[in-house]
Amino acid sequence: MVNETITDLPENLKGLADLAFNLWPSWHPEAQCIFKRLNKIGWKEATHNPVKMLHTVPKVALINASENTSYVNHYNAVMARYTRYMQRRTSWFSEHYPDYCKTALIAYFSAEYGLQHSLPFYAGGLGFLAGDHLKECSDMGVPVVAIGFMYSDGYLRQIINSDGWQEGVEEKIQRGNAPIKRIYAKNEKIILLKVPYIKPDIYFTLWKVEIGRVDLYLLDTDVEENAPEYRNITSRLYSSENEMRLLQEIVLGIGGGHALKELGISCSAIHLNEGHAAFAALERIRQYMEAGFSREEARDQVNRTLLFTTHTPVPAGHDKFPTWMMDKFFGEYYSQIGGRDAFLNLGRHIEDPPDYFNMTAFALKASTYANGVSKKHGEIARDMWKSLWDLGNAQQVPIGSITNGVHIPTWLNPKLETLINTIVSRSCPDWLQHHDEEYIWDLIAMLPDEELWEVHQMLKMKLIDRIREAKRRSWVQHEADAGSVLSGGLLLDPNVLTIGFARRFSTYKRADLIFHDMERIKRIVTMPYKPVQIIFAGKAHPADHEGKRILQRIFKIAQSPEFAGRVAFVEDYGEQISKYLVQGVDIWLNNPVPPLEASGTSGMKAGINGVLNLSIEDGWWIEGYNGKNGWSFGKSTSLENRDDATDANELYSILEEKVIPLYYAQALDGVPHEWVAMMKESIRSIAAPFSARRMVKEYVERYYIPTLTAACESKVNVEPK
Ligand SMILES: *Cc1c(COP(=O)(O)O)cnc(C)c1O
Repeated sequence: MVNETITDLPENLKGLADLAFNLWPSWHPEAQCIFKRLNKIGWKEATHNPVKMLHTVPKVALINASENTSYVNHYNAVMARYTRYMQRRTSWFSEHYPDYCKTALIAYFSAEYGLQHSLPFYAGGLGFLAGDHLKECSDMGVPVVAIGFMYSDGYLRQIINSDGWQEGVEEKIQRGNAPIKRIYAKNEKIILLKVPYIKPDIYFTLWKVEIGRVDLYLLDTDVEENAPEYRNITSRLYSSENEMRLLQEIVLGIGGGHALKELGISCSAIHLNEGHAAFAALERIRQYMEAGFSREEARDQVNRTLLFTTHTPVPAGHDKFPTWMMDKFFGEYYSQIGGRDAFLNLGRHIEDPPDYFNMTAFALKASTYANGVSKKHGEIARDMWKSLWDLGNAQQVPIGSITNGVHIPTWLNPKLETLINTIVSRSCPDWLQHHDEEYIWDLIAMLPDEELWEVHQMLKMKLIDRIREAKRRSWVQHEADAGSVLSGGLLLDPNVLTIGFARRFSTYKRADLIFHDMERIKRIVTMPYKPVQIIFAGKAHPADHEGKRILQRIFKIAQSPEFAGRVAFVEDYGEQISKYLVQGVDIWLNNPVPPLEASGTSGMKAGINGVLNLSIEDGWWIEGYNGKNGWSFGKSTSLENRDDATDANELYSILEEKVIPLYYAQALDGVPHEWVAMMKESIRSIAAPFSARRMVKEYVERYYIPTLTAACESKVNVEPK
């Protein structure tokens, strides 16, 4: 039985339960502190998850807290702030678009969400982008409701065996300890829905995650009513088995659209975060037709109220399904939407083999608005999909771009924020409310070098502590042998220049590029007086053997004494370790094959924390690099003309000639002043333009408002004929 309510809280601390079931504390450190203060070790054991914390903390700790004035005052202050946040009537959105406030609502669909590690519903950047988008929408009062999956097995808990091969371990999410709430039907039974008109029947139930003021509904097919093979449709992210993948996308798009209707949530427009949920457009067409509109009217209306964001130039990132496979499930559905062939035609992309349905092609054809996720990616996407339009040149293809951003309150380290506050709050007390305005960040220049350096060094120490503690645990649990404890980070040294490389181990990201010339990199990392250490983390997709092979190569290098303990591989990359890394290393390395990194966001997270980017010129870094806030290389490389040797040599030269001398030019006070100047420039130049706030404002202004306007003007709002 799922224990969703926490009942036995002291009367004057009852609000802890509300707080625990909302993710708001995850970007308000002072709110997390009221859980941590209950029991510091318990908080660690509960892996910073407030729900688990309240389930496990001894009753006596709660009673003691309820009688402690200082604690109760702290609690009351946090609750007051939370209540104000939740009940606030005015917001950026309501002030700018008062006419849309009452009725407007945008349904946001995504196959993954990166929110908190107690909700392992993400594989990588796409998920974190969605999570940051929703948090920012909550902060700014943008009316969205989100749809996703309740992945009961998460993505993959990574364990590396002694031979360096990645193994996944089964780890079911404990629903009772996660910040999710079940949805009940009117009859007070657990809600049970069926994906409409899809045969055979697929049933699902619903959960809800509260992200500040935004609700995220999660679909869960693990119900008894389903045939056994359908129960696990929603258990894992991105099945590599095509039919399972199709079923997932049917449930997400069609089931998700149906769920909103059943919940009585009426949305004016849809935002598809990647093509996985494109069937949501189809379901909306069906719903309009069911309400009496003609096929043309329904299609037109959906088209004008649909925004589609495409996220990758990697061809395998665009799902396509053979039409015979679609026929297996859609037989009855076709008849509801005016026939099979016209629909299948919408998913036709002439570059595919015949008789395939391409989700991205469909999403592009079904939407008036579409965008890529950086300027460069916009260009690439226009070129990639130009054959869908009969246009002479790619420039006219109606795909725009909005460069990704990161949610500043989530990713800016609280200690750094406090330090910035000491300077900035003098001239702008509520600067965090204006964090997408660049002038705020100009004030960073006034930070004393020593203080910024001290905070940075402390964050590096915290990162290393955290890595060692994780290794200690896996040692205790017999999940690691002595060798992998060493290569997992035991030998890291906080005084050494530290490079971080952490992301999914997709082959195009070239995690092992830095080992292209083994002798040269060995010399670099073991240089007397000026050593370098490199921390790697990341997961390969379970079906990606090439990715696993690259991971194994790095793992073995980390274990080799020739590298002197200066290379570490940290297992199980996820939301938590990512935070420590992007806040605690000195250099953030990124070297994908251009133009395959559509945007990249981890470099933004690093940059706002004063971690200097050393990156291939691709994705967001083309826009972010200004000559003073990091380093850029790899101009000559491209997909057609991939030249790992040249890229690696350029990387080594930058390290040898620029990065290492600058870092070790530490004055007698122990501070590398020129380095710190670059850290300040990194924060100053990256925080505002690459904030999720700037991004969400752009989405609203350029796309949400036009779709909402189209919804208002439509005939569909009047009585159907
Ligand atoms: C930010 C983030 C990503 C995305 O990083 P990229 O630079 O886009 O590869 C992936 N995983 C985690 C855990 C993250 O926090």
